[in-house]
Formats: sequence, C-alpha cells, structure tokens
Amino acid sequence: MCERLRKERGIADTRLLAAMEKLPRHWFCTETLLDNLLYDIDRAIKIDCDQTISAPATVAQQTQLLDLQPGMKVLEIGTGSGYQTAILCEMGARVFTIERQHGLFVKTKKLLGQLGYTAKCFLGDGFRGITEVDYGPYDRVLVTCGAPYIPSDVMAQLKTGGIMVIPIGQDSQKMYRIYKEGDTLDQWRQECFGDAKFVPMLEGRNF
Ligand code: SAH
Repeated sequence: MCERLRKERGIADTRLLAAMEKLPRHWFCTETLLDNLLYDIDRAIKIDCDQTISAPATVAQQTQLLDLQPGMKVLEIGTGSGYQTAILCEMGARVFTIERQHGLFVKTKKLLGQLGYTAKCFLGDGFRGITEVDYGPYDRVLVTCGAPYIPSDVMAQLKTGGIMVIPIGQDSQKMYRIYKEGDTLDQWRQECFGDAKFVPMLEGRNF
C-alpha cells in the first residue's frame, strides 16, 4: 500500500509512510475484509453510524498537506474510526479530535486508549471547534468530513501562521489547504488540490 502511495500518488513524507506502514487498517474497521479491499488505496470503508474511514490515498494526501512537525498541536474534526488520529499520533503530533456521533466517540475513544494513544477525544459539533477547554490555538487543523464552508469558529482556534486542510463542497468536494496569515478572511490564503469525496460535515451533535 505504501509503495503505491509513494510511486503513484507522490507521497514523500517518510514519517507519514512509516506510520501508515506500522498501523494495520483492520484495527479500525468493524467488518472483516480481505486484504485486497482493506489495502486498496482508493477504497473508503464503512464503519459504524453510517460513516466511513477514508481511503488510504485520501488519508495520505490530507496528512501530507498538513506539513506536520513532531510536537505540533493538531485539531482533527471527525474522529470516526480513529485511523487518521492514530497516524497523527504516530507522527508525534499532540492530537485533539472531535466527533459528533456519540456511538463513534465512545467506541473510538476506548480503542485509541487501548492502543496507547494519548489523543484527547471530544463529543461535539466540529463547526464550533473545541469549546469545553481552551487547548488552542492549534498549529494545524484537519477536517475529515466535507464542509460546506470554512468554519470561522475553528479558524479562530488555529494559530496565525497555521494551516488548515479541509475538503469544501456539498455532494463532492475540492481539497483545500488554507494558510492563516491573519485573523480576517482576506488573510486566509487558499490553495486547491483537486477533487475529493467525503461524508458530509453536519451541524450539531448526534446522541
Ligand atoms: N478521520 C476519520 C474519518 C471519518 S469520516 C477516520 O479516519 O476514520 C468523517 C467523520 O466526521 C464521521 O465520523 C462523522 O460523524 C464526523 N462528522 C461529521 N460532521 C461533524 C461535525 N460537525 N463535527 C464533528 N464530527 C463530524
């Protein structure tokens, strides 16, 4: 899988490839799947609550775009299965992750703990970011669901000089990397990295 990501998709971040090599994807899936499905780089896999674990190529693209350094504080919107969270942890990030589905929040928080990851998990609406405790500002924000627009509350929790990676669009999305060069909209520099397909980012939390 990593060989294909490197050769066919230009994934060059060695810490990312090492993390993906190390982490078996089946730990994060509910169904038992054959390896050729599990490690198909373009296949998203169903998890609980009608959600998906993103395709490996998508996970790799988003993570590489983050331009992550060890020790950085990362806010992830959409914990889902915890696969992406675990990769960020393996790469030395301090991860804060938020999920709106209660079932996934409970299950994934437990799984990440069992695997020894110290990511902090929150149940809530990612449009608001993390509101309980102020762990911010974050060096990086990674949105793993299709957002209708850039959530301004989350942007406010990103450091000036920080990066947000976010798929934007309703039914299908475009992948964006946003550089926050200041507090106002005109200081958010955007770069587009092509088409993407994610489950939608939904308002509110689901008990
Ligand atoms: N990073 C996950 C991807 C899961 S799919 C993984 O590696 O498995 C995206 C997730 O975003 C879903 O679990 C969905 O419930 C969640 N989500 C959607 N809208 C959200 C919101 N407003 N706040 C937090 N999570 C949200």
